[in-house]
Amino acid sequence: MERIKARIDEHLQRDGARPFCAFLYDLKQLKEHVSRTIALLPPRCRYFYAIKANSDAALLRALAPIVHGFEVASLGEVRKVRAVTETSPILFGGPGKTDEEIAGAIHHRVSLLHVESLNELRRVERIAASHGTVMELLLRVNLRGPLPVGTLQMAGRPTQFGMDEADVPAAILQAQASPHLRLRGFHFHSLSNNLEVEEHLGMVEHYARRVRQWSEEFHLAVDCVNMGGGIGVNYGDLQAQFDMSAFAAKLPARLEPLPSERVSVLFECGRYSVASCGYYAAEVLDVREIRGKTFAVIAGGLHHFLLPGAWKHSHPVALLPVERWAYPFERPECVNRPVTIVGKMDSPKDILAQDVMLPRVRVGDVLAFPYAGAYGWVISAHDFSSLPHPEHLYLE
Ligand SMILES: *Cc1c(COP(=O)(O)O)cnc(C)c1O
Repeated sequence: MERIKARIDEHLQRDGARPFCAFLYDLKQLKEHVSRTIALLPPRCRYFYAIKANSDAALLRALAPIVHGFEVASLGEVRKVRAVTETSPILFGGPGKTDEEIAGAIHHRVSLLHVESLNELRRVERIAASHGTVMELLLRVNLRGPLPVGTLQMAGRPTQFGMDEADVPAAILQAQASPHLRLRGFHFHSLSNNLEVEEHLGMVEHYARRVRQWSEEFHLAVDCVNMGGGIGVNYGDLQAQFDMSAFAAKLPARLEPLPSERVSVLFECGRYSVASCGYYAAEVLDVREIRGKTFAVIAGGLHHFLLPGAWKHSHPVALLPVERWAYPFERPECVNRPVTIVGKMDSPKDILAQDVMLPRVRVGDVLAFPYAGAYGWVISAHDFSSLPHPEHLYLE
């Protein structure tokens, strides 16, 4: 937060006219965090970044030399990766791929396609044949479970993702009979925002056992299993994050059921990769009390940073005092009272944090929300009410 505060001060001195409102990304912190994570993982593991968490080119550029590649869910995301790196491996998934996306995947040299249904398998075969190429793929399976419960669930109950376990035998046979497809293994991504190490390990072991069954039953030479993303971020207690060291240490034993030691294990983490490097910060425009409840209105809101609204949580926040005050009258403030932090959206839903205890909040101070790097700007309704966009600032 010290580096962020210094960057904001620098910005205020240079360009102080507009109320401050920005996403700030600490690229040094990002590179250290992801490098550290990769160093912990067993050698057979490959770490990909799922770019839908944040596809900002500066983040992709920072990560390209560190990660094993990128996971994307649209042709637009393929192009964003290729604009930054011609060579990084790309995994391409997502429900409902169009013919244009499948052809685009071939054109942009996607490494692995995650195929979600028999219909999709047939279309990929046809398009690969027309390009005179062989597409390498993983079958995305929607496992019945039991699976752990993250904040979002993509499998374990009926959802639109991947194919039913019951369709896997037919999909394997179909892939084996298709001359322009090479089935390399399976893809699972069953939940998002899981904080429990033991549950994640249990899920990984469940994947490994299912893959072994299918490989034995169908004499498949599986050489790759993608175990998805879904490692969580604890927004409620920033000091109690997912224990990656413990997870990595116990991982080799849980991967043993895989059919061979040569099977590589892919992870494709979005939130866990980028949440911690991002901050959303905005100046306080007003402080007011309404029937005993204190509100601070900031020069931003959920139209920039929807995450606390989407998840209905009170986002952690830090106060960065700013000493300048340009007006000839008293500076409004609130001292030692719970403050509810709201935005400019003219909607009662525009609440970023509820009843936060802060020693003193003055108009003109900056409030900074940490862990804003994932699913922040990219999921928000930027053009709501034609409000201005935030700046995007980077710390090298
Ligand atoms: C969104 C997504 C991810 C990343 O999920 P996180 O919870 O952000 O780690 C990984 N794989 C697939 C298929 C996804 O759709």
